[in-house]
Amino acid sequence: MTNITTSLNTYRIVPSNPTAHLYRVTLSIPEPNHAGQIVQLPAWIPGSYLIREFAKHIVSIEAFSKTKKIKIDKLDKHTWQVAPCSGPLQIEYEVYAWDSSVRGAYLDERRGFFNGSCVFLSVVGQTHQPCLIELCRPDSDFCQDWRIITTLREHDAKRYGFGQYIADNYDELIDHPVEMGHFILGKFSACGTEHEIAITGVVPNLDLARLTRDLTKICTTQIKLFEPRNMQAPVERYVFLVNAVGEGYGGLEHRASTALICTRNDLPVQGKRASDHPDLEKNYRQFLGLCSHEYFHMWHVKRIKPAAFAPYDLHRENHTRLLWLFEGFTSYYDDLMLLRSGVIELNDYLRILAKTVFEMMRAPGRFKQTLAESSFDAWIKYYRPDENSANSTVSYYTKGALVALALDLTIRRASHGEKSLDDIMRALWQQFGRNFYHGEACGLDEHHVTEFFNQATGLKLDPWLNYAIDSTRELPLAGLLEEHGFALSAQTNNHIPSLGVRLNHNGVINTLAQVYVGKPAQQAGLAAGDVLVAIDGLRIHGNILDTLLSRYQPGDRVDIHIFRRDELRVFQVKLGPPEPDHYTITPISGKLQSIGAWPAALSS
Ligand code: ZN
Repeated sequence: MTNITTSLNTYRIVPSNPTAHLYRVTLSIPEPNHAGQIVQLPAWIPGSYLIREFAKHIVSIEAFSKTKKIKIDKLDKHTWQVAPCSGPLQIEYEVYAWDSSVRGAYLDERRGFFNGSCVFLSVVGQTHQPCLIELCRPDSDFCQDWRIITTLREHDAKRYGFGQYIADNYDELIDHPVEMGHFILGKFSACGTEHEIAITGVVPNLDLARLTRDLTKICTTQIKLFEPRNMQAPVERYVFLVNAVGEGYGGLEHRASTALICTRNDLPVQGKRASDHPDLEKNYRQFLGLCSHEYFHMWHVKRIKPAAFAPYDLHRENHTRLLWLFEGFTSYYDDLMLLRSGVIELNDYLRILAKTVFEMMRAPGRFKQTLAESSFDAWIKYYRPDENSANSTVSYYTKGALVALALDLTIRRASHGEKSLDDIMRALWQQFGRNFYHGEACGLDEHHVTEFFNQATGLKLDPWLNYAIDSTRELPLAGLLEEHGFALSAQTNNHIPSLGVRLNHNGVINTLAQVYVGKPAQQAGLAAGDVLVAIDGLRIHGNILDTLLSRYQPGDRVDIHIFRRDELRVFQVKLGPPEPDHYTITPISGKLQSIGAWPAALSS
């Protein structure tokens, strides 16, 4: 085995100092550029569109040629060049790993986790070549029974063991996160493909059987959506890596795995009746939605990709106007797949969908930014939210999901139920996804999306897509849903006149987190960050604001005292009408599923 591989670049990574959160990496390059090898660390991680400067966590770096130390210079924030040398080269460096998010690298005496983007330098000029990864067991006593889980291919390692793994190129190397330590392992098969879920963290009485049963249904439904004939997943093995913590939520997609973070209360409990614990059930449904979302990405963004990501440029922002398609459509399908696979009921699905409508409708930024703009500016806006985000931006997740819904309903109506959004997804898969890692790696050109959608459905969708993606006009959701037998309506529970703000209250103090543009508080001069003191001389404390406001009518004028930068100020606010606090989507009796069987059936 070593004969074949001595010519390969090798990354030896040791969790060398768990209590100091340090990995030691030795990169051996048998045939470096003798004029001065350049190495680089990515500035961002695919799937999370923010420049993160992972190189800041490299705390020391040295280079050796034939055991002799040679000079290594830094060229820019994440690039180094080794002095000219002959023969093989070794670069040794230490990486600080104390980021427990799904995007980073983490190490303590209980577990290690890393994304290759954080720990593996790329060898410039050799990124297309295969490389070896040696995952080494830490020395410390408390790590002796650690196991590994990753979808990196084993080269000279047993499944779950430390040892040698292999990747075809740098792109693959950094697309298989590695978890090490102790984990609960569940296994299941979906359409004959091996699936695993590894859960790290303390989770008392986990109902692993229920979890794997539900995931089996979700994964099977998705495989059938993309490959209705041969029912084959695009991988030989898929792994859900779950870090269960006290507080946290999120996921990051990879080609054969996903890294997820959730709270332990999101995971099902053995021996509890669902009907007795509605809150736990709601959390669990949300967790299944997250699993479904990241799994859907295995096809949609890890293989079907925007042209801007094929290949990724890991050193700067990769702008695309298509995140509404890759994240928005994935957000539409994640919950829809739960319904179609039978792990949630229609009522649950409609409630989740109505929540998405509410989230879009409460942010006036949808009148400022189009979905194409929101996608393009993800790097500086969606991923760097501030107090004005709700006024100035629209989420390509939320509105993107609702565009997918509206498009699905439009296609079903126009084709009399013959076609649906599923046909577009399958066409994208066949054209761009299926052979992405096997042949010409080509992404979807943003100028050809409309033409592609037209071809896949046999419809002329240009005006509709222009309206939805390139304008800020309201989506015609209520009308479309009604045609399919569902009523969408805005609801107000509390009938309290509104200020048009979102509060942060820490138990005692109320601070304005967001002040919505065009609403009473903003028009009167209140601003994000203001600390509320009193309304008409009555103290605002705890969560008493609504109680105080409920004594007034819309149109009444009230004096609101606030502190801004420790100065007491007063503003006169004319109260607005009650704002919707949720939406509902309900079946219209006698009209249910009149066209095209939305939402439940797979149309294949
Ligand atoms: Zn996503």
